[in-house]
Amino acid sequence: MQDLGIVRIEQDGEIAVIVINNPPVNTITAAVRAGLERALRTLASLTAVRAVLLRCEGSSFCSGADIGEFKGPPMEAEYRDLFGRLEAQSIPVIAAMHGTVLGGGLEIALACHYRVAAPGTRFGFPEVTLGIIPGAGGTQRMPRLIGIEKSLELILSARPVDAGQAMTLGFLDETIEGDLTIGALAYVRRLLAAGAGPRRTSDRPAAPVAAEVVAKFKERAGKQYPNRVAPLTAIEAVTASARLPLDQGLLLEDRMVNGAKLTPESRGSVHVFFADRETRKVLGLPDGSSREIRSAGIVGAGTMGGGIAMCFANAGIPVTLVDTTTEALQRGLAVIEKNYQSMVKRGRLQLEDKEKRLALIGTALDYRAFADVDVVIEAVFEDMELKKKIFSALDGATKPGALLASNTSTLDVTEIARATRRPSDVVGTHFFSPANVMPLLEVIRTDLTGPTALRTAMNMAKLLRKTPVLARVCYGFVGNRMMEGYAREAERIVLEGATPQQVDSVLEQWGMAMGILAVFDMAGVEVGVNVHKANADRYPPDPTYYQADFALVEAGRLGQKNGKGYYRYEAGDRARHEDPEALALLRARAQQLGVPQRLHSDQEILMRCLYPLLNEGFRILQEGVVQRASDIDVVWTSGYGFPRYRGGPMFYAELIGLETLLEGIESFRKEFGPMHWEPAPLLIELVKQGRTIADWEQAKAVAA
Ligand code: NAD
Repeated sequence: MQDLGIVRIEQDGEIAVIVINNPPVNTITAAVRAGLERALRTLASLTAVRAVLLRCEGSSFCSGADIGEFKGPPMEAEYRDLFGRLEAQSIPVIAAMHGTVLGGGLEIALACHYRVAAPGTRFGFPEVTLGIIPGAGGTQRMPRLIGIEKSLELILSARPVDAGQAMTLGFLDETIEGDLTIGALAYVRRLLAAGAGPRRTSDRPAAPVAAEVVAKFKERAGKQYPNRVAPLTAIEAVTASARLPLDQGLLLEDRMVNGAKLTPESRGSVHVFFADRETRKVLGLPDGSSREIRSAGIVGAGTMGGGIAMCFANAGIPVTLVDTTTEALQRGLAVIEKNYQSMVKRGRLQLEDKEKRLALIGTALDYRAFADVDVVIEAVFEDMELKKKIFSALDGATKPGALLASNTSTLDVTEIARATRRPSDVVGTHFFSPANVMPLLEVIRTDLTGPTALRTAMNMAKLLRKTPVLARVCYGFVGNRMMEGYAREAERIVLEGATPQQVDSVLEQWGMAMGILAVFDMAGVEVGVNVHKANADRYPPDPTYYQADFALVEAGRLGQKNGKGYYRYEAGDRARHEDPEALALLRARAQQLGVPQRLHSDQEILMRCLYPLLNEGFRILQEGVVQRASDIDVVWTSGYGFPRYRGGPMFYAELIGLETLLEGIESFRKEFGPMHWEPAPLLIELVKQGRTIADWEQAKAVAA
């Protein structure tokens, strides 16, 4: 055996085995590439070797290229050269794969002559979701193996396929049951016994496809990926494989992928990719212990309590729901069962797993059931006195060290914590609806929260497969606080005469997953009205404030749940229909409030809705509510349908230019007055000093 660092080469009779060991998932880093280079050189000096097996240790074959290198100089030439030399070997080269083989991981396998894999292996090209295209031969080699159409399906869907599908598609030769290395070595010996030689992908032609087929893919890409160019670039690169020899095709791919890396869509998507991984790091938190979460309790079996219980059950953690009546518990359980059933129906869950998960969810009518749990999450009505009473009771009912969490959206978690004798164990855990689906979790720390509770809460997020964003107590935390101005303008614009459809479609065409008025219809228009009524003293003295919501709710229009809100809905259907009755109500309310009617351009709608959202982000950042600007981007991309390819609000603010944003806000200030349009002090400061958010964050870190 020759140890070449994280790549080693072993000899098993006539077979040289190159083994990559780069935990955790064998990312093709510069060190792996250097190790492979050395392995190929060593290979040339080995005698009596008739075949090469490439495999990886650990949980996966090469999972992909090193995305961290995107920010540096282009590496495609290095990949091209390395993979080319692998492919050019004069003896058969076989890849033995397991785990998740994506992007560059799959591309190295395509440069091998034969491919085998363990049955559970998954393969895919997720590049378009990062605003790029496969750049290490994927667009040229895959069509030579499976054809242009199937390659485009794979690349444009961006979703992995399993080993069975890979065999059917034609880029996998065999699946190997049992021990992969033993099975793969046996496969290689069979190849050698049959006299098989190298089988280079580069020697195969890719058959051209008809222009109509290409047009169909372009049309589909336009619909599936509005506002994005990477999918179209991928179509161009893949179709070129039929007309160019491999070496030229690879050079074209290189140019295209490097062009793609410079696009805002790629910069935004890659920014969010890393931002998602950053949120777990808690600045200034000393290393220390975290408490294990082996069981959980939930207070309140309503919408959120039920969803949160599912999160625990999905993670295999037993959870007990407590509510005030047996009926409430039964109702809660029935909703949970229905949700699981629909997952089974859609093929997302096996029937036996549904039963297993349901068996993990218990119910009780009092807190004695919590005597031994490691965490309790409270999800009762949004009422401070009720929550304080519950926390005081939980304090007495739970063991020392149990994490006590509130799912409140608006209330002061510090005040809730003070209702206990252990405020250091209290946090906010703000789940998003539906809690079992949405990846975001705002973790709220108070000034009293202790380091162990904080670590436990952040680790719990990981257990529940959530993306935690740590925030300090403030009204609305991060997401809802930024939504306040965004939705305020959307509502004000419909009072000024635009239709809900017009406002929502501008937002959706720009990239929001759903227009905000349609979101209100989905969540229940009365939810916002109740929050605004309960917190009336917090809002500016604007008589038109959220009056569109109020007008609809007062007329009994609650949204999808009763078939009418901003839109009209037909029974059993969520399609939105413009409703003259809603429009008349909004007009009447506008007249009553003296709101002048006028026409709005799409550009005005977009700027008026987005700018307050971005502006509030600067306040949140300056106040230290979040640890870093990119955490705000994560909140909005994973919890509020902000397009990932636009990088999140703070990234987007810099993309359009802080000066442009400030000018826009100032011009609205002139037009509508200062009540809602004061630019955030940090935004003004950055523009004045010509600094970026990153400059500011760096200076702050140095000062700390
Ligand atoms: P919900 O009305 O659906 O459920 C509340 C449940 O609490 C009901 O089952 C009720 O019977 C129960 N309950 C009331 N008093 C109780 C008590 N003393 N002991 C035990 N159970 C009691 O409410 P929800 O929408 O699930 O909201 C719960 C919390 O989550 C609120 O603080 C809300 O602000 C917050 N939240 C809601 C959403 C959302 O979209 N619905 C999103 C994030 C956070």
